[in-house]
Amino acid sequence: MNLPEEFLNRMRERLGESFPAFLQSYRRTPVKGVRVNTLKLSAERFAEGAPFPVTPVPWEKNAFYVEEAKAGGWLEHAAGLYYCQEPSATSAVGLARSCKTERVLDLCAAPGGKTTQLAAQTAGKGVLIANEIDAGRAKILSQNVERLGVKNCAVTNAKPAQIAAQFPEYFDLVLVDAPCSGEGMFLKEPEAIPHWSVANVALCAARQKEILEEAAKTVAGGGRLLYSTCTFAEEEDEWQIERFLKDHPEFALAEMKKIYPHEHAGEGHFAALLEKREGERRNAKPYPVRRNLQANRAFAAFAETFFKKEIKGEITTLDDGRMYLVPAGMPAIGARILRLGVELGEFDGRIFKPAHALAMSLQRAECAKFVSLSREEGERYLRGETFATHLENGWCVVGFGDFPLGLGKAVNGVLKNHCPKGLRKN
Ligand code: SAM
Repeated sequence: MNLPEEFLNRMRERLGESFPAFLQSYRRTPVKGVRVNTLKLSAERFAEGAPFPVTPVPWEKNAFYVEEAKAGGWLEHAAGLYYCQEPSATSAVGLARSCKTERVLDLCAAPGGKTTQLAAQTAGKGVLIANEIDAGRAKILSQNVERLGVKNCAVTNAKPAQIAAQFPEYFDLVLVDAPCSGEGMFLKEPEAIPHWSVANVALCAARQKEILEEAAKTVAGGGRLLYSTCTFAEEEDEWQIERFLKDHPEFALAEMKKIYPHEHAGEGHFAALLEKREGERRNAKPYPVRRNLQANRAFAAFAETFFKKEIKGEITTLDDGRMYLVPAGMPAIGARILRLGVELGEFDGRIFKPAHALAMSLQRAECAKFVSLSREEGERYLRGETFATHLENGWCVVGFGDFPLGLGKAVNGVLKNHCPKGLRKN
């Protein structure tokens, strides 16, 4: 591996005696992992039936090391039972395990590893706003939130300053998983190596400072600010935190963790949990629900045969007919929203058509009509095939074992495939 001389000099100076061991760590193969989506099943149940060998990660009880090269290609992945996440990257959110999480902001959220971890860690309770500045990446974040069946999350696409202006002293927990120089990922992503320079480290540190300043404004009194990077550079890690604490005496360091690849089985990662002293915890206007009687009636008619029991909550209908189940406590958001709670479906002025996201958000026990497929049939479902069925005409949830993969519609003995074209596998 061709690592920049200057990077190696900096690491030698930082690590002293352990530098040779650090250098040696670049000879191993990169560590891979999955984190179980406990919104759908427990880590124990996953491990028992996992389609590939798994070994527990010491610092995160729901994460496992895997050697499987294509962990993203399995039906279990399509069903949202796990998220492919580098094991060290699962360490940060764990620091916030005992924090208050009624209102959570993930400010730099795409592609969604930590957002979906936060959602699982908080058991889907409270309100989670997952923001991403880059529109393309925000779309991927939204897809991951959908696949994992997260119900209490709004996915937004805004600059940190926009979010800060709207939510002063509002959140109980704010995560800044900052864009960084990525030194900790060189083994896994060697294509990042040529982009490394001391100047880029300084640039990243300056950008992180800006993001942290905006993030700090959104933390409520008594709240927590969780900061993480996947780099070793002190300018972006320890010194960044030191500088922040000097400028913000209202915050104190609660915990800090750095993972080096020669000390732990994982790539490089840094996390710091800061606590804000007690003070103002401001409220925001509630999300302005737009009730559409006709749409709600059409949904209620659909719901009668689709769910086992009534689903509760406020339904909002957008101008284009898309209907969402608004999470309780969701504030008004003056930014571009890609997803809000559970997308129920679409009302075209006459009929209601359910959305894929609705199927992904359900447990088998909640579905009045659930078609459980074998692995071979599940693969065929993901390829877009139809099946013969004895079901009465109408919508149903199609799943692999107990876990939804998407929607189907029985029409005169044929189970039509409603897996979205963009999610199908060839
Ligand atoms: N938290 C994510 C996860 O666990 O999957 C990874 C986040 S990644 C390390 C950092 C994110 O910050 C990227 O998605 C990037 O687009 C975003 N970003 C880049 N520049 C930014 C800026 N100036 N302000 C806020 N976010 C930025």
